[in-house]
Amino acid sequence: MSSERPIPSGPPGGIVVISGPSGVGKSTIVRQAVGQTGVEMSVSATTRRPRPGEKDGVDYRFVDREQFERMTRQDELLEWAKVFDNYYGTPAGPVRKAVEQGKTIVLNIDVQGGQQVAQTFPGATFILILPPGEKALAERLAGRKTETPEQLKARLSKAMEEIRQAKLSGVYNHEVVNDSLADAVRQVVGIIKESRKT
Ligand code: 5GP
Repeated sequence: MSSERPIPSGPPGGIVVISGPSGVGKSTIVRQAVGQTGVEMSVSATTRRPRPGEKDGVDYRFVDREQFERMTRQDELLEWAKVFDNYYGTPAGPVRKAVEQGKTIVLNIDVQGGQQVAQTFPGATFILILPPGEKALAERLAGRKTETPEQLKARLSKAMEEIRQAKLSGVYNHEVVNDSLADAVRQVVGIIKESRKT
């Protein structure tokens, strides 16, 4: 390789950021891809209440607003963002440790967070999960049957805006369309494996 190549912050491929709007099946894809590759998964801190079945320290580190603010003040978070009225952030310690040890760690975070990670770790791998189209996304969101038509409209326009932002940022160097779940998982697994070789 030429010596003119920019020096990545930490071993390349150490960090894989996966983003995409809600409703594209991102969490399922991430869970399966992480399971198949055996890589580490970052556990975010959040002020959101746990959903049924979610475990503290496994799915998220559930904290209150005061604890979250302390973490930001003490510079414990690699990035953080407000998403749907709640705060979410990536604890920096485990990410730095993984990078130092040459391991791969996956971050399932939103586009605002992805852009922040790109500033600290420009050599990271960034994957954007996309719906097959706006109509398909609308159908998937409606399929949940938990929101009013107004809420659905708001979620859909937020999702489309997030995709627009992600593309504009120029940070996401991989796009995976979730048309078939198995295919999307295969592609993400391939990207994770490839990122470890570079
Ligand atoms: P949920 O509340 O459905 O688990 O997550 C909502 C959104 O927050 C998802 O898009 C998820 O990727 C994002 N998210 C989860 N953890 C973090 C984090 O640590 N930082 C940022 N920026 N976004 C996060």
